[in-house]
Amino acid sequence: MSYEKADMNKKDIESLRNEVKNKSADETVRWATSAFGADFVALASSFGAEDQALTDMLIKSGARKNIFTLDTGHLPRETLDALEATQKHYAIIIEVLRPAAVAVEEMVKLHGPDLFYESVEKRKLCCRVRKVEPLEKKLKHLKAWICGLRREQSAVREQVQKIEWDESFGLFKINPLADWTTSEVWDYIQKNNVPYNKLHDKGYPSIGCAPCTRAVKPGEDIRAGRWWWERADGGNKECGLHAKSEAPVGNVENKSE
Ligand code: SF4
Repeated sequence: MSYEKADMNKKDIESLRNEVKNKSADETVRWATSAFGADFVALASSFGAEDQALTDMLIKSGARKNIFTLDTGHLPRETLDALEATQKHYAIIIEVLRPAAVAVEEMVKLHGPDLFYESVEKRKLCCRVRKVEPLEKKLKHLKAWICGLRREQSAVREQVQKIEWDESFGLFKINPLADWTTSEVWDYIQKNNVPYNKLHDKGYPSIGCAPCTRAVKPGEDIRAGRWWWERADGGNKECGLHAKSEAPVGNVENKSE
């Protein structure tokens, strides 16, 4: 089924969820590009394992132009290498979004280059300027964005649904891997020869900006290496990209990235 933008709003979430209820992850990806239109749905990739699996599914569905990434100016070398390797492997160009230079300059002038270590508020300001604002501009043109969120990733993601209404950005969020385990992600990557970020081989299950991400120790939470200096119980370990997704119909609430 195909939808016109005017016909779709957050009230449709239950019927959309019913449509994908029994679909596999790659079927959900194909469904999304067909239901929302290939020009109006895109994957936001951070080149972590989940996003690489979704990239492979999107390419195989024929949607070769529907992948973008946020270059915050603080990406690890390995992530930039993964970007290059992915473009080469699939012979695609991935759209790279960057923060407004003026906004970054002003923030650094006021708070210094390492403001994120000083307080949660300053860390969130940096995430807002470097990630959320450029993302906002991109999402304005879409009806749905595809993300690699999984319930298993953290306590704040345990309610993630395959389809959510993203209240922050005013569009649908599709999480085709919502019910996948870490093993399923890696099985997919290996079976399909998908290029992956080499930080995963160095103990990074979750990958973000270089100054804000470290490797995790055995037994630690998947996202323990993100903003590791902040108290684990002192608020969610999220950057604002997925802060307010929720399902207004039904009682599902996603407090999640
Ligand atoms: S993860 Fe760190 S460096 Fe990246 S945008 Fe957020 S605070 Fe800034």
